[in-house]
Amino acid sequence: MQDCLFCKIISKEIPAEIVYEDDRTLAFKDIRPAAPAHILVIPKKHIPTLVDLQAEDVELMGHIVLTASRLADKLGVSEEGFRLVSNCKEAGGQTVFHIHFHLIGGRQMQWPPG
Ligand code: C5P
Repeated sequence: MQDCLFCKIISKEIPAEIVYEDDRTLAFKDIRPAAPAHILVIPKKHIPTLVDLQAEDVELMGHIVLTASRLADKLGVSEEGFRLVSNCKEAGGQTVFHIHFHLIGGRQMQWPPG
C-alpha cells in the first residue's frame, strides 16, 4: 500500500534493521525499543488492523506467531520468557496501521499493561 510506513520498510524504501525475512513475513528492530529485545514481526500482506483479518489469513497469522517464537529463541529470551503483543486501533494503542506483533523481552514484564 502506497502510504503505509511498514509497506515501505518491506519494499526497502525506508531502512530498518531487519533480523528475519521470508516470502510472507518481515521482522525488524523497533526504532524505539521498550525493552532490551524489541522486534516487530509483520506480514508482507498489507492488513491494516486485526479487525481486518479474513479467514484466508489464518495460516499467515500462525506463521507469524511461529516466526516470533523462533526469533525469541534466536534472541536468547525464550528460556526466561517474553511478551508477544499486537495493538488494535487507537484505543488499543496502535499507531501504525499495518498489522504487527511486538516481540518484547530481556526484562520482567508487568501486568496489566497501561
Ligand atoms: O503498536 P504500535 O502501532 O504503536 O507500534 C508501532 C511501532 O512501530 C512503535 O513501537 C514504533 O516505535 C515502531 N516504528 C518503527 N520504525 C518506524 C516507525 C515506527 O520501528 N520507522
